[in-house]
Amino acid sequence: MKLKDCKYLFLDRDGVINVRKMGGYILSYDEFHFIEGVKEAFKIFNTCFDKIFIITNQQGIGKGLMSEEDFSIVSKKMIEEIESNGGRIDKIYHCPALKEEKSKMRKPEIGMGLKAKEDYNEIDFNKSIMVGDSMSDMLFGKGLLMKNVFINNHTETNIDNKIIDKEFNSLIEFAKYIENEKKYN
Ligand SMILES: [Mg+2]
Repeated sequence: MKLKDCKYLFLDRDGVINVRKMGGYILSYDEFHFIEGVKEAFKIFNTCFDKIFIITNQQGIGKGLMSEEDFSIVSKKMIEEIESNGGRIDKIYHCPALKEEKSKMRKPEIGMGLKAKEDYNEIDFNKSIMVGDSMSDMLFGKGLLMKNVFINNHTETNIDNKIIDKEFNSLIEFAKYIENEKKYN
């Protein structure tokens, strides 16, 4: 399966959609800043993919630094902003568990992907792409036999090229690539 034949898009959030807060968590929308080109990227994805999901670890909730409600307010505002720019997110899956809990729902485990498949039976992981900026995202994608797109924002220090299918510097670069591939190939 080639990237251009994929119909389902799974995206990590922090570091892919919004600027990562190093060593911290996005506790409110004031701290949520779209990376340049991301809104345009979602507009492109809207025409390229049947379903678009966010898959995000949010252990700031498990640590008690933010509530489920805080997270859902950020999500709602992010979706509104993306939609008003011609984009779409079908569903956001998040895992509040702490790393130490070893939850099957927390990336690199595949639980959130399996939950998405439960909710949307049409998902075919062989026709799915996982986009992320960490090896945890790439392990999640490979665990489900997806294609892996790595966004290299230079925060990941242990890059394993064996589990990366394609690498870009930003989400908009990937969006333009996939748009072009789908159009002309
Ligand atoms: Mg990330």
